[in-house]
Amino acid sequence: MSGTKMPWVALQPRVQGLPLSATLAINERSHALQQAGRQIYKLGLGQSPFPVPPSVVAALQAHAAEKDYLPVRGLPALRAAVAAYHERQDALGRTADEVLIGPGSKELMYLLQTGFAGPLVLPTPCWVSYAPQARLAGQPVQYLPTRRADGWRLTPAALDAFAQATAGTPRLLLLNYPSNPTGASYTADELAALAEVARRHRLVVLSDEIYGELHHTGAHVSMARCYPEGTIVSAGLSKWCGAGGWRLGTFSFPPSLRPLLDALAAAASETFTAVSAPIQYAAIRAYAGGPDIEAYLNGSRRLLHALGQHLAEQLRAAGAHLPDPDGAFYLFPDFSAHAEQLRARGIASSPAFAERLLEETGVALLPGVAFGHAPTTFTCRLAYVDFDGAEALARVAEAPPGRPLGEGVLRACCGAVLEAVDRLCDWVVGR
Ligand code: PLP
Repeated sequence: MSGTKMPWVALQPRVQGLPLSATLAINERSHALQQAGRQIYKLGLGQSPFPVPPSVVAALQAHAAEKDYLPVRGLPALRAAVAAYHERQDALGRTADEVLIGPGSKELMYLLQTGFAGPLVLPTPCWVSYAPQARLAGQPVQYLPTRRADGWRLTPAALDAFAQATAGTPRLLLLNYPSNPTGASYTADELAALAEVARRHRLVVLSDEIYGELHHTGAHVSMARCYPEGTIVSAGLSKWCGAGGWRLGTFSFPPSLRPLLDALAAAASETFTAVSAPIQYAAIRAYAGGPDIEAYLNGSRRLLHALGQHLAEQLRAAGAHLPDPDGAFYLFPDFSAHAEQLRARGIASSPAFAERLLEETGVALLPGVAFGHAPTTFTCRLAYVDFDGAEALARVAEAPPGRPLGEGVLRACCGAVLEAVDRLCDWVVGR
């Protein structure tokens, strides 16, 4: 019978050979080694180490019985709270009607890619999921490599050259800052210069500001402040509120991009329907802010700032090149100064670097190739989050205010992270 030869399953070319997201894969691998009794330093997965603020948890408990499907675009009171939040932060002048709530900003980004007709423009290095999402959505990607000398930041000149060369089609530029993987951010002046280019070339900007609240000195400025008419702001609870597993993301649109918002809402109605009701009610509390949220954010920023600076210095002392971390909880060292010695040890690529490092020291991190770098470069991303965030916040609250946190506090709060970077540095220089 001809039916017996017919395969059970045929995969769409878009998903054929699509690997598990690099971040999730390293987490599973470290977990397996840990189960086998090895001590593993988990600097691979970029998850917030901090707990969800107690008042937000209490709001979730209070709304646990909410059971109805909510409006596709999100609970009106939450959309109003998000619009008010953007107003407080950046005076964006956007209304509740211009906000879309989704099950994580990642899902909203994917829907945007399925709806926007035109290439995705990706400055690299960049977050691991943008390009696979474009592939799933059937969208072409145009990479815009940045330079180490610019701190891996997009420059107005590079954007201008690219935009001129690709004139005549709608393009979606992805800007992400503070950056995953580098921790680098943009100042208001740098954003204004990028905005001038974007405006001149009518680029649509998806500004992924998921780490905005984790700018280490609280100095985050939204791209939408500089380029309001062309910027969709992407944010959510996952990073600043320690609630990655709650799955709540937000998009905020300008009036000029209303057709995109409507298309995404229609796609949402046919896919996820609406975000979990109790989570949306709890998120209203998070976005309302208040003294407890401020104290929580200040504690998180103070610790991440001190830790990021300390580790960056340690890595530089071991010969790494990396930009100063401005925000988030990532560092992106480039060990190419040691390329020759690494090759002599049989390590010729960033995946081999990450693999051998994990085997020989127990330190798990992600190779630069996962962020769009050529495999032969010796870049990698480390997420400095392997510590107990609740305990760390309690210690930071007791540290004398107005002074940088010293190494003693860092060792007490985040000893394993410091030890991991010690091991990494010793291993790279062959000690
Ligand atoms: N953007 C960046 C740069 C990220 O690092 C992440 C998560 O790791 C996301 C977006 C997705 O966040 P979520 O879907 O949890 O809102």
